[in-house]
Amino acid sequence: MNLDIINRSDITDDLKTIATKVFAGERITTKEGIILYEKGDLSFLGALANFVREKKHGNKTYFNKNFHIEPTNICIYNCKFCSYKRNIGEDGAWEYSKEDMLDIVKQYDNKPVTEVHLVGGVHPKRDLHYYGSILQAIKTHRPNLHIKAFTAVELEFMIKKAGYSLEEGLKKLKEYGLDSIPGGGAEIFDEEVRKEICGAKSTTDIWLEIHEKAHKVGIPSNATILYGHVENYAHRIDHMNRLRDLQDRTGGFNTYIPLKFKKANNHLSYLGEVSTMEDLKNYAVSRIFLDNIPHLKAYWPMIGKETTQIALSFGVDDIDGTIDDTTKIYAMAGAEDQQPTMTTQGLIQLVKNANRIPVERDTMYNEIKLY
Ligand code: SF4
Repeated sequence: MNLDIINRSDITDDLKTIATKVFAGERITTKEGIILYEKGDLSFLGALANFVREKKHGNKTYFNKNFHIEPTNICIYNCKFCSYKRNIGEDGAWEYSKEDMLDIVKQYDNKPVTEVHLVGGVHPKRDLHYYGSILQAIKTHRPNLHIKAFTAVELEFMIKKAGYSLEEGLKKLKEYGLDSIPGGGAEIFDEEVRKEICGAKSTTDIWLEIHEKAHKVGIPSNATILYGHVENYAHRIDHMNRLRDLQDRTGGFNTYIPLKFKKANNHLSYLGEVSTMEDLKNYAVSRIFLDNIPHLKAYWPMIGKETTQIALSFGVDDIDGTIDDTTKIYAMAGAEDQQPTMTTQGLIQLVKNANRIPVERDTMYNEIKLY
């Protein structure tokens, strides 16, 4: 199959050079990443991304059993793409107490979940110790539940509000029970674009610094990109290049998760949304470019189940987990799946129908069960 791609008469010499490098396991440059976006057709990109995916993971497709808690949608920021944020007292605002959140955890007492994913808005009155006490309560109640919590944007605010340096704050949160950090808040690293769509919140440098310091103190993390708004291909490659550089230094990222801009109920609605073909192209280029981040995840509630299945042939090896309807972030932005729940059986079938092997994993990709 490798030769099939390289020998195609309709592809340019620069694409042939890139394919040869990828098949040899060599890293591609940022310039070559942009060429892939601009000149690679879907069948070329899919074949190349699938080569990388199968070299890393064979036919395995990972999922986990998790649930989400969103402590609040009250947020001090006003990111233009956000459909979720509310001000204190505004219609549609919520803020759970510690007891509310512990009650949510208790609803899963007899269920075989391995992870709680806890993210929300940046509440002006809540600091590291407030959230730390929640982590502590969850760990006391269910010590083996992995807590993946707080985007770098939430972390910057809660740590500074408590008067700690970033490194001290991360260590303190680890003591409270933080196991890993999700990838949110990255949006797009290019400073000009970031200023345009979410200029007030954590800078690119802070986002990267928090993840680097987290890796240093033994807290692994994920990374995201928000694509399909005002950014261009060079911005996407620049974003991935900064992650690739950081990963070379720390090795602390597990998974890269491209998040598609959704147009409902936000200040960028006029932009519309990119096509499914663009989604697949983006997965493929991400898999080819990010040679040092092990996993590529498709967030199925956002792109829908069918596109997720197809994405398994465009570099994706992870489809997240069985999420219950406490996840409101994407539904409020107009996600494909307005009630994002899927049973384990549903996930398994989705993967099998795409001729892949479903593997239940824990947060750190230790395999729990092959189906
Ligand atoms: S994207 Fe996050 S930080 Fe920005 S306004 Fe929405 S909730 Fe707040």
